[in-house]
Amino acid sequence: MTGLMYLKGVSTLKLENDKCNSCGMCVTVCPHAVFSFQKKALIAYGDRCMECGACQQNCSAGAITVNAGVGCAAAVISGMFSNSAPSCGCGDDKKTVNCC
Ligand code: SF4
Ligand code: SF4
Repeated sequence: MTGLMYLKGVSTLKLENDKCNSCGMCVTVCPHAVFSFQKKALIAYGDRCMECGACQQNCSAGAITVNAGVGCAAAVISGMFSNSAPSCGCGDDKKTVNCC
């Protein structure tokens, strides 16, 4: 995982370790190698999470929750159609930090 920057402490990813049945699916499907596995899954690199939701969808035990969304993909598409800089609108109210 080199060449990428990650925002620290903003991911909504959560794992309830006591619910984990050790199937390993989250480790398999995560594109950013967020999880490690030692008898049960652990969040090893939470700041790498891009909130795609694949782990939550593939966790049959319901141990993982994450607010999955379209994130920056929506911002890029919006910018293309409006011929402007990418923006998802998250900072429009000036109370939140603009992520784009
Ligand atoms: S997918 Fe869910 S049950 Fe399976 S290892 Fe990951 S957290 Fe545990
Ligand atoms: S939401 Fe996506 S990037 Fe984040 S931990 Fe789950 S599979 Fe990995």
